[in-house]
Amino acid sequence: MDEFRGGCLCGAVRYRIEGPLRNVIACHCTQCRRQSGHFGAYTSVPLDRFSMEKEAALSWYRSSGSAQRGFCRVCGSNLFWKETGGADISVTAGTLDGPTGLSISEHIFCADKGDYYEISDGKPQKAQW
Ligand SMILES: [Zn+2]
Ligand SMILES: [Zn+2]
Repeated sequence: MDEFRGGCLCGAVRYRIEGPLRNVIACHCTQCRRQSGHFGAYTSVPLDRFSMEKEAALSWYRSSGSAQRGFCRVCGSNLFWKETGGADISVTAGTLDGPTGLSISEHIFCADKGDYYEISDGKPQKAQW
């Protein structure tokens, strides 16, 4: 059983995950683009294999009626996406300590992607979810 750790830029938020991790889904929706500054890239794990090690600076922003986004209020790192009542938590791939062994498996919400870049890695592209 692989163990993964990760955290924010300043180190005030740290988490631990018992693997395996899902491959990374890149989300090009408007909310992910605004929060991340580019597009979102998330792995996902059941909550029973996820735990916080340091969370004093973790804040949650309710981005829609059905989801919250977790971020570090000290350094601004974008860490988590969680559906209300969901059994899983999505974790931004960039906050994992490497090596992750992961790769992007698909792109979602491509209909909302920015006009300043192309998706050219050959992975499936879905207009929505
Ligand atoms: Zn931080
Ligand atoms: Zn998104």
